[in-house]
Amino acid sequence: MLRIGLTGGIGSGKTTVSKKFQTLFNIPVIDADEINRDLLTRERSAYTEIVAAFGHAILTHNGDIDRRLLRQQIFSDSQSRHTLEAILHPRIRAEISRQMSTLTSPYVLVVVPLLVELNMQDQFDRILVISTDVRHQVTRVSERDACSQQDVSKIIASQIKPAQRIQHADDVIENNGDLTRLDQQIQDLHEKYMVLST
Ligand code: ADP
Repeated sequence: MLRIGLTGGIGSGKTTVSKKFQTLFNIPVIDADEINRDLLTRERSAYTEIVAAFGHAILTHNGDIDRRLLRQQIFSDSQSRHTLEAILHPRIRAEISRQMSTLTSPYVLVVVPLLVELNMQDQFDRILVISTDVRHQVTRVSERDACSQQDVSKIIASQIKPAQRIQHADDVIENNGDLTRLDQQIQDLHEKYMVLST
């Protein structure tokens, strides 16, 4: 099975694109963000390690990890970010591998927003990058999340530069047009991946 790692900046269209592969061609999608969220729940061993490393102050009043607080902390302190990464990333990698091993499909898409930042290229056969102009990212995300354009710009500024991300791309989807334009590119890529997977 061909393993495609799909990445791109916030609001570049990762969810939109992966859903289209799923609905148009029945291609399985693994979502690293979902795995990440699941790892923070109380039943998981990562929970215990995070509470041990960050203290009970990281918990909400009902004992869940306060993801917003955790995000704020790692945003402002790189040591905290490294600590959290050391806890989560081996587990995310392992869970991606486990989920892939259960699939029978010519290829699989694995959506990993921080794929390049976390150096996860080796887990995939090809890297698909969604490339979207910053102005589209800003308007689309501020509408999607009902937040200010300034907030979106700040998040974009904190992510790696698009030129750096694209250096790792085997394939690129350009998402600056309408959704029909996106469908054409997805159709072309699907055909390419079907050939490559045989
Ligand atoms: P990501 O998962 O990369 O953060 P999304 O797929 O959620 O990005 O896309 C961000 C927002 O932009 C969503 O509301 C989505 O519906 C919208 N969107 C994505 N691509 C297009 C497009 N080509 N035209 C119009 N809206 C789009």
